Amino acid sequence: MNWLKVLLQRLEDNRDAPYERELLAGVLRILGEYAFETHRRRAHTARREFLRLSEDAAAGRYGELTPFLREQRRDEQQFVQGQLNDLRDLTWNLLDALSRMAQQEAQDDATLHHQVRQMSLQVQQPESLDVQSLRQTLQTLTELITERERRHQQILRHLESQVNHLMRELEQARRESTTDPLTGLYNRRAFEECLNHTIGLNRLFGYPATMLLIDIDHFKQVNDTYGHAVGDTVLKAVAEQIVRVCKRKSDFAARYGGEEFAVIMRETTLREAQRIAQQLAAQVRQHSISVADAEPLRITVSIGVSELGDYESAEEWFRRTDTLLYQAKQAGRNRVAA
Ligand code: GH3
Ligand code: MG
Ligand code: MG
Repeated sequence: MNWLKVLLQRLEDNRDAPYERELLAGVLRILGEYAFETHRRRAHTARREFLRLSEDAAAGRYGELTPFLREQRRDEQQFVQGQLNDLRDLTWNLLDALSRMAQQEAQDDATLHHQVRQMSLQVQQPESLDVQSLRQTLQTLTELITERERRHQQILRHLESQVNHLMRELEQARRESTTDPLTGLYNRRAFEECLNHTIGLNRLFGYPATMLLIDIDHFKQVNDTYGHAVGDTVLKAVAEQIVRVCKRKSDFAARYGGEEFAVIMRETTLREAQRIAQQLAAQVRQHSISVADAEPLRITVSIGVSELGDYESAEEWFRRTDTLLYQAKQAGRNRVAA
């Protein structure tokens, strides 16, 4: 973390270095946005801590920064290392089981061959056929096969429990990697995935789709006036309104940036999407958010709405909708542009 030392030194030398302060605050926000789970902290707790440190940095307080960064970084490293070790152990166990199985199979096959040869020799000489020893050979064969089955089952059960354990961990990691912990909506990564799937479906089957990009108006003011905790409450409230208004099972709602949300609606015409966007803007406008020791807070959003065009790429579609959102802002905010 050499950059951090240099930056802190610069700030130490020049207590009023607004550019460096902003830079540090910005870096901390980004680190928070992409913080991941460790044994000590859930991802959203780490994110909150980073935001708090970012505010502190912007205000010229850096005392807690270095110890926190070191601890979080070490935890993240241990966490990843632990997961990798689990995966490596499982792979080795699998290899070990397979090689033991192969060795045992080879031995069993040799014994089986021998027994079968004995039997065929006996059968070829019916005059000296010894029923007693034939029965004995058959018995041995049956036992061998049964034993083999039992062993297979045992190995399978052993591997199954390990694989299940790992699958559960991976599933959990997947869920955490696609949802935004603050609002419970999908995150940016999941949004991009959905965007690409939607384009694919449109190209293949011509399914129509529409997109809303929603940005909270003057959100910085909310943070600056009431602090980040209230800012977070506002984000959650907006997410709830989005879920309430875009309620079809196929509607895909995500928080793709700090105070920016996106909804992708399949099989929805532009006209319907516009109606939904208007409804959402009205709901947010009417909804008041209670804040401790202050008047209930009212906020507004600006929304860009567009329909996926023929042969349009994901980037083009997103950029076009973002331009519409920008137009809604330019036209005075608290409105929909389509
Ligand atoms: P506009 O109407 O033009 O959108 O103005 P704005 O203030 O909403 O836009 P701007 O992009 O300037 O500010 C967004 C602010 O959102 C900056 C940052 O402090 C805040 N922010 C970003 N992510 C989070 C978060 O996760 N929680 C909180 N509380 N604030 C966040
Ligand atoms: Mg914004
Ligand atoms: Mg905004």
